[in-house]
Amino acid sequence: MRLCLSALSALLLASSLSAGSRLDAFRPSPNQQVQLGKRASLQLRKQEHVLPASDPRVKLLRKVARRILSTFDDKDAPWEYSFDVIDSKEINAFALPGGATFFYTGLLDRLKTEDELAGVLGHELTHVRKQHWAIAYADGQKRNLGISIVLLAVRANSNLSSLAGISDDLMFELPFSRHHESEADDGGFDACISCGYNPQGLADTFIMLREAIKDGTPPEFMSDHPDDKNRIKRIEEKIKATGVTYPAQVPIQLDGS
Ligand SMILES: [Zn+2]
Repeated sequence: MRLCLSALSALLLASSLSAGSRLDAFRPSPNQQVQLGKRASLQLRKQEHVLPASDPRVKLLRKVARRILSTFDDKDAPWEYSFDVIDSKEINAFALPGGATFFYTGLLDRLKTEDELAGVLGHELTHVRKQHWAIAYADGQKRNLGISIVLLAVRANSNLSSLAGISDDLMFELPFSRHHESEADDGGFDACISCGYNPQGLADTFIMLREAIKDGTPPEFMSDHPDDKNRIKRIEEKIKATGVTYPAQVPIQLDGS
């Protein structure tokens, strides 16, 4: 979601984020992540057609989300979760820092089971809870600083403002690391199991996406993963390793939700 990351970064820069005495001075605090996510979420709501709470797809998303949230053990965390559906053909879903989560109808309409939905939700919520965006942001800032220092030393007269722009782009387009994506997949897997869903739903979503997205921009949770076959295989091996026979997946029935 480059749009959102760009907006967030602009907000971050504009708000003159104070380094404070945090261990990682470049990482926005959990409360700052909530504020940034909320502001970006407001902007997104102005730009996109967000479906009303009465829409069956919104009801479905919130029902499965409530089930997942009830299993979390970090209830003291400051995250302010919200779950909305954007009417768009784009095959995507994402969680902003702090907990505001959006699904596009382009993805939601392709999901066949609640288990698949739970897998994607669990994946996205793991990015929030593990603060992956804030870590990626901090890493980008450190890289940016490193590049600036090197260039200052080598080319004292260089135009740092234009260089900063390049570094910003680099930072905005920086996807979550492979490690963070694997961690989010694990979170999706765990969320399915904690809620009594079948974790095969997560693997099935990736299989569906691989077929659906022949070209164009992959959704956030497929980004940086040219080897999505391995990703599917990894989830299926985790399922086998548990030695558990999971219940049949729950077909999505929008009329009944
Ligand atoms: Zn992801």
